[in-house]
Formats: sequence, C-alpha cells, structure tokens
Amino acid sequence: MAKRQKIVVIGAGPVGSLAALYAANRGDDVEIYELRSDLRDPSTTPLNFTKSINLALSERGINAMRHAGQPKLIEHVMGATIPMRGRMIHGRRANGALYEESQDYDVHGRSILAIDRGGLNKRLLDILEEMPNVTFFFNHKLTGADFRKNKAWFEVRGNGAATEGQQSREVEVDFDLMLGADGAHSAVRYHLMKYTRMDYQQVYIDAMWCEFQIQPKTTAPDASLYSKFLISPNHLHIWPGKEFMFIAIPSDDGTFTCTLFAPASLFEHLESDPTGAVIPPFFDKHFPGVTALIPPAELIASFHRNPHLPLISIKCNPYHYGSSVVILGDAAHAMVPFYGQGMNAGLEDVRILFDILDKHARMDELSAGADPSASRERALAEYTAVRIPDAHAINDLALQNYVEMRASVLSPVYRLRKFLEEALSKYLPSLGWQTKYARVSFGNERYSEVVARSEHQGKMLVRGFVGLVGAPVLAGGIFLLLRYKRAVDVGLRA
Ligand code: FAD
Repeated sequence: MAKRQKIVVIGAGPVGSLAALYAANRGDDVEIYELRSDLRDPSTTPLNFTKSINLALSERGINAMRHAGQPKLIEHVMGATIPMRGRMIHGRRANGALYEESQDYDVHGRSILAIDRGGLNKRLLDILEEMPNVTFFFNHKLTGADFRKNKAWFEVRGNGAATEGQQSREVEVDFDLMLGADGAHSAVRYHLMKYTRMDYQQVYIDAMWCEFQIQPKTTAPDASLYSKFLISPNHLHIWPGKEFMFIAIPSDDGTFTCTLFAPASLFEHLESDPTGAVIPPFFDKHFPGVTALIPPAELIASFHRNPHLPLISIKCNPYHYGSSVVILGDAAHAMVPFYGQGMNAGLEDVRILFDILDKHARMDELSAGADPSASRERALAEYTAVRIPDAHAINDLALQNYVEMRASVLSPVYRLRKFLEEALSKYLPSLGWQTKYARVSFGNERYSEVVARSEHQGKMLVRGFVGLVGAPVLAGGIFLLLRYKRAVDVGLRA
C-alpha cells in the first residue's frame, strides 16, 4: 500500500477547501493554511474582505462537489440556492415607459444557481472539520517556499482585527505536495516562479465594481421565500448601459446583491461630488427603475461605503513544479466575473487534478515499490498540459462576455443567433447544437472544445444564411442578366 502523503493546502477559500476535501477523502494527511481568521467565527471580521456576497454556481462547480465523496455537501449546497433561469433585461422605451424582457438561458429549462459565497465556504469548512486527517491553521500567511526541499514558511498572526501591532512568529512546515489555492494575488504562484520558467500575463481591465443591495419587500417572519422579493428572484437582472452595467442576483433572505460595473473614469466622475448628488440622476438615466428599488439616499450611502474594486485577468503557464507544487483556482487563472465561471472553473480544476493524480497512482500500483513522487510528477505535468488551454479559453470568454452583457443583449444579430441555435437545439437535438452559454454553464465539456464547437456553429450559420439569402439573390441576378442580354440582342437585331 502507498505511503500516506502530507498535503499542504494554501488558502481556505472555496477552491482550497474543496481540494482539501478531495485530498482528505484519499486518506492523505491534510493541513490547510489560511491567511485570515476562521470565517465561521463571529467574533472576528476577516481582514480586507473584498469578495462579492453571492455568485452564480453552475454545472461545473456542482459536478466537482458531486465527486467530492460527500453526499451531504451537495445536498446542503443545492438546498441553499435560488435557480436563475435567465437574464431579465431592464430598459426604457422611446416613449419613456419602463420595460423588462426575460431571456432564458436554456431552451431545455436548465438554470444557474444563486448562492451565498460565505455559506458555501462555511459548509465546506464544517465538513473538513469532521475529518480526522485534516488540520486547520488560520492566521497563517505563506511567506516563503522551497519547492526542491519541500519546505514552506508561514508568518503566524493574531486574530483578525487584533493583528495590527501584535508580534508575529514564523513557522517552518514540510510537505509532500503543496496545493496553492491562495487567490488572484497568490504567494504560492510568486514562489513557484522562482523554480520554473513561468509565462505570466496580468491585465487589469478598464472596469471597477461596487456593490449595492435591494432590500426585501417584507421581513415578516411568516412570509414565504418568494413573497419576499421586490423583483423576480428567478432571474439575473441586468440593466445594460453599453459602456457600463448594473446587475442584481437574489439571496435567500429576499435581498438582491447588485453590482455596478463601469470604467474607472466613470467611478472618478461619481466620486468627484462628495454629496453624491450626481449618483441618482446617473442611475435614472442609464439604469431605469433602480431608484424605485434602492432609495436614492441608500444608493449614495452604498456607493460611498462599499469598496470600489478593480478586475484582474491572469494567465500563466505552467501550473506546477516537479512533484511538489501545483496552483489552482484564481491563483492559476483569475478571470473577470462576466461568465460567472471563476469559482466554477476553480472547483472544476480540483476534480480534474484529482482524476489525473488518481489515474497515475493506479498505474503505479501495478508496479511494486513505485515512488509516489515520480507518479505525482507525471500527473502534475499532465494536469498543466490539459488544463491550461481550457483555463485560457474561459479567461477569454469571460472578457468577451462583458460586451455581451452590457451591449450585445440588445443587438438584433445577437438575438437572431441565439434564436436559431436554440431552435436547432430544441427541434433537432440529434444535431447536437447548443448556445455557447449553455455549453459553458450546463455541461462539463472542456472550455477549449466549447470555443471550437461554437466557432464551428457560427460558421455553419453564416453558410446557411448565405445559402438561404444568397441563392435567391444569385438566381435574381442571373435572371436580370439574361433579360438584359436578350434586350441587347433584340436591340442589335433591330
Ligand atoms: P479565493 O476565494 O480568493 O480564496 C483564496 C484564499 O487564500 C483566501 O481565503 C485568502 O485569504 C487566502 N490567502 C491569500 N494569500 C494567502 C497566503 N499568503 N497565505 C495563506 N492564505 C492566503 N465566480 C463564479 O463562479 N460565479 C460568479 O457568479 C462569480 N461572480 C463574481 C463576482 C465578482 C464581483 C468577483 C470579483 C468574482 C466573482 N467570481 C464568480 C469569481 C470567484 O469569486 C473566484 O473565482 C473564487 O472566489 C476563487 O476562489 P479561490 O478559492 O481560488 O480564491
């Protein structure tokens, strides 16, 4: 039997927690090191908590949790979600009347799910807590790593807000494998760069975000869930503004968490007036109906109270070094949030990584006395090779979807393509047609294949369109030409 391995997970966000669960289920000794205090502890405010409150969970994330070997995880997670079956586009007609238009995500009735990020993360930590082979180390910041000697160093800090001015100490930890799930500004990635020739690309897009909230219609304790919402809870609401947009995602307490995404220059403009008086008229002009859902005073207060944060997109290659370290989730591929895939892709990383590790471990079991680090090295190399094209593909799709959400949803060409692809998917399912969105959000096909198949579908549609429109035009042209030639011939003869 293979020797138990010591797996050190850096970061107890959703991706690190799920990775720890997969590792623990395989019987390894798992240690989780997290910079912040335990987010389940009500007495501590996590430092610098700059993550969105709720987010969209879809098939890839669910599938990764399904394979974590903990049926109660998926049961709990699904119970705490609100299905969003489509986008609700809000706007104003030329005559000034407000309208809303529902655009379903899928002709087969599938939905993405709104979920509270903190709730999901806490559930993962609760399950890990019950596992005898898992140990948590909160307030431990990774500060150094030697991936040849398999050693890491952590600064141990006081609890939460009390950190300032407190003495910190350093501890040294050894490991067989480090899983780096420490987010977009990953320290693991930073140290990994010293050991491998890593290509690295970081882009800050010209958009900032800030959160707002729509309060429930009623807080009566006996109110049913669905009677609490001021607008449809089964939609992701979008107010497209071409250069910017406002969105709203439901939470199970009847609120909506809303996000303004806009260029930095617009944020500067709105920030320039300390009274905030410019904010409600801006919303009235570009996001009609919002000031009826969020009172203007609250709109101004939220804009001033909540952080204005940038959006980063990161690509790198490779994701691993030797047999000792691999990065996952935002640490490997932070992306802009417009496809709702950042966390989903990170959770999928975990499933794919462990599938590959298991495959190589099984192959090695066949050869007696095999060294687990040799099999792991092959597995990590395969993981890098398999996952990078997919992570890069979803990073690009996420960037493209910003344009789709804030502008294309209003375009007739976009709507025509969506209509045709959905009609083919519904009425000719044997052709295997689906929209790109459905492939990304409701399936587990590789992201790079989704891109390739969507491009192919696009070309087929153009050819079909040219065939349909082009053939009569061509026939008409030939007919006119023949008539002209006949007229000339008759003229010459006369
Ligand atoms: P993180 O959640 O960032 O966790 C990393 C952890 O590592 C943190 O707990 C951090 O404290 C810890 N850490 C950092 N440095 C160290 C260190 N040196 N030592 C120890 N620990 C450390 N994704 C979706 O799938 N759907 C959505 O709808 C969606 N909406 C989003 C909306 C917005 C506005 C934003 C900004 C993102 C959205 N995302 C969405 C993306 C999603 O939030 C991230 O992809 C996801 O949180 C990444 O998880 P992670 O565990 O990799 O990293």
